[in-house]
Amino acid sequence: MTEGNTIRASATAVLQQYFGFREFLAGQQEVIERILGGEELCVVMPTGAGKSLCYQLPILMRAGYGLILSPLISLMKDQVDALNAKGLRAVFLNSSMTSSEQSQAMRAIASGQAKFLYVAPERFRAPIFQRFFFEHPPTLLVVDEAHCISQWGHDFRPDYQRIWGQFPAIANVQLCAFTATATPEVREDIRLHLQRPGMLDMVSGFKRKNLSFSVIYCRSKGDKVAIVQRVLAQKQPTIIYTSSRKEAEWVAGEFSLRFYHAGLSNQERKQTQDYFSQSPCPVLVATNAFGMGIDRPDIRQVIHFNIPGSLEAYYQEAGRAGRDGEAASCILLNAPADRHIQEYLLNLNNPPPELLVGLHRYLLKQYTPDDSAIYLNPGKLLPLFPMADSESQLRSAIRILERHGIVERSYQLGGQGELSFLEPLPTLLAEHQGVQTQRSIFLSRMASVFSENQLSNLCCSIAELSAYSGLRRDQVARVLSHLNGESLRWEAIELGDLLHLTEIGRQEPLQIDLKALKKKRELDETRLGRVQSYCYTRKCRQAYIIGYFGEKIGSWHCGCCDLCAGINANLSRPASSADLAQAKRILQALELVDGEFGRRRFLGMLLGHDDSNMALHQHPSRGRLKSYGEKRTENLLNALEMQGYLQIGSGEYPCLELSRKGLDALKGKIKLELKLFSAKTLR
Ligand code: ADP
Ligand code: MG
Repeated sequence: MTEGNTIRASATAVLQQYFGFREFLAGQQEVIERILGGEELCVVMPTGAGKSLCYQLPILMRAGYGLILSPLISLMKDQVDALNAKGLRAVFLNSSMTSSEQSQAMRAIASGQAKFLYVAPERFRAPIFQRFFFEHPPTLLVVDEAHCISQWGHDFRPDYQRIWGQFPAIANVQLCAFTATATPEVREDIRLHLQRPGMLDMVSGFKRKNLSFSVIYCRSKGDKVAIVQRVLAQKQPTIIYTSSRKEAEWVAGEFSLRFYHAGLSNQERKQTQDYFSQSPCPVLVATNAFGMGIDRPDIRQVIHFNIPGSLEAYYQEAGRAGRDGEAASCILLNAPADRHIQEYLLNLNNPPPELLVGLHRYLLKQYTPDDSAIYLNPGKLLPLFPMADSESQLRSAIRILERHGIVERSYQLGGQGELSFLEPLPTLLAEHQGVQTQRSIFLSRMASVFSENQLSNLCCSIAELSAYSGLRRDQVARVLSHLNGESLRWEAIELGDLLHLTEIGRQEPLQIDLKALKKKRELDETRLGRVQSYCYTRKCRQAYIIGYFGEKIGSWHCGCCDLCAGINANLSRPASSADLAQAKRILQALELVDGEFGRRRFLGMLLGHDDSNMALHQHPSRGRLKSYGEKRTENLLNALEMQGYLQIGSGEYPCLELSRKGLDALKGKIKLELKLFSAKTLR
């Protein structure tokens, strides 16, 4: 037996003996072998693909213990319980434990009683733990949920990112990262922050053979409605995703369906979720808020009524179809105008850096050490920040400050509000003169406690108002609601609009990497561009998405998406030598404007259409295929792309470019061979 075979045989034995599984899931074996061979990996597999086993098994096969970092405390406990249930001793360290519980856990590791130590980031940083780590280095250091390290990920935890710079001892330990987030930039960022540039990407498990993807071009909302109607006639469990709450409600109204979005009350949400999980054939319209915890395996159709913001989001949402392994379809309705919605959202989610800086400066000015709660009313603040384009963008800026640990929201305080009087107090008092009511008492007491100019935008609680006025709290609340809009304005502060500056937040300048935020905006733009490219690709849809994630799939294609089905059925006619001569012209023409233009404009140029762009208007090949005919030229262009001579570039816009194969054919290094659509299927 070779060494590789020996490792393989014993890994399989451990799999069966300790985990009780017969064989490995896709991708597991290679990861395990590489880890055992000492390599450092960044492993990307979708949720549920079995990542834990990939590191647990090598740890079991080695002497010593494995250290697993995970930012999600609840998941950590589940994992530890699952291991212990299998008789594999595992312990964890997090801040919810007493210090004697923590020492006990460390002793179990040091003495070899336990093989797995799960640690939360904030414990990992503690000096006592650093000493322990130095004295007892693990045999493998695992960074689970590694996307949380990256700003580009969807669940950034600054705390998780910060731990790396401060811990020299980890340099000598084999380190592997695991995540389900497939974005290439996120992986790059993980490598950067872990300071392991050589970490090898291992992406696997994204193929979903039972899902058939299709994109349907829609000119109008009417087109979309007609398609949805057709799809719903199948009477199958279905989710229709929209990109806004308003649109979700509109679609639901159009077809008398239920809808789900983050604007529903908790109770409504719960009812809708129950409907979705219990009804035999639910159909639900939803925004991306619908997702977490949906485990219905028999969803047969997922329709996207609008284009999503990224392929990661798309694949995750569409991938909720067919969890049972039976055939299911994922349909994207592509109306080019929908791009505006996504651009709006992009702008909202990426407020300008000046806004963050300005907001932070404002907060610092408001801050006083004895009363650290600061009330922010985004609606009122808007005029102070001309660089914010909407209240929603201001809210999103506050969320970013929160995500970066600059502010924390206060959810404890109740009954807070802002009080102003609509007329001068003496005028108001005069109106109530001569009557003894709770209202008049309230007004006169307020007039005696406060001076006129203190009484605009007074931020206070009902309890305080009760103390000033001598009325009971319920009486104050009634008075406020009687007079609201008439003599005064009382705006109850929503919980969550009260902020506290954290310790980091009180530092100047603002402790956020603004360059990184700028880069995030660019990345979001590129991601949106890739959604467009997906819509216009002529190759297998699933192969396109998986290739984008970075999984190496060679010439694999799903065989069931709209394009695969079309290719199989219709690409049947071998190209004649006349066709091939024209095809060569296309490749030559493209070489000159490689990667600069989209399909429509390039095709228009070949056919001699006018173009405002000089490069196309004066292109030497302009009009060269006019006599060959528009339909046939388009057919040829599509065939060239489907057979790998051309491709859509990876930039923001879907531009055509020559592939390696196309270039080789052009230079005569390989022979140009093509199959074309049979004449009757020409569209
Ligand atoms: P991930 O972390 O990738 O989301 P988990 O590691 O939590 O996934 O594993 C998902 C499920 O797959 C678990 O219930 C696990 O027991 C199961 N599993 C893992 N490996 C195998 C295998 N080789 N055969 C069968 N089930 C497996
Ligand atoms: Mg996991």
